Amino acid sequence: MNDELGLLYQDVVLDHKRHPRHHGPLPDADRESRGYNPLCGDSITLRLRTGDGRIEDIAFEGQGCAICVASASLMTEAVHGARLVDARVALRAMHRMLSGDGEVDEAVLGKLSLLQGVRRFPSRIKCAALAWHALGDCLDEPTAAAQEQGDEPGRA
Ligand code: ZN
Repeated sequence: MNDELGLLYQDVVLDHKRHPRHHGPLPDADRESRGYNPLCGDSITLRLRTGDGRIEDIAFEGQGCAICVASASLMTEAVHGARLVDARVALRAMHRMLSGDGEVDEAVLGKLSLLQGVRRFPSRIKCAALAWHALGDCLDEPTAAAQEQGDEPGRA
């Protein structure tokens, strides 16, 4: 990564840390996953409302370092409204990028490819991956917690 891209990475991470997108509860969620990164103390809950083969709405809550929150925020922005199949493609491309396995697929990742900057800090890769692990969990099957919430749509 050149210096220009490095500065852009810092700008985007700080912007999303200060102003996280899609941050808050999602009372009508049908899928939910919690993620915890003990190495850093990052803890987030990701919620999705799905329908018609799409992620109709998405939100996350929790606390984490700048990388964790920025990654979660960028992710929600990227997959909000996306077809589930496209979200899975982004998920796989993101895991390949974060694991340093081959080329960064910028065509699929777009702005998310900025997070490749985190590869320079191996201890922070788990921070960046946390929200994506939660998304993978959500895309496989609804969790018991999410189903309980579905029974009580008014509960935040
Ligand atoms: Zn972290």
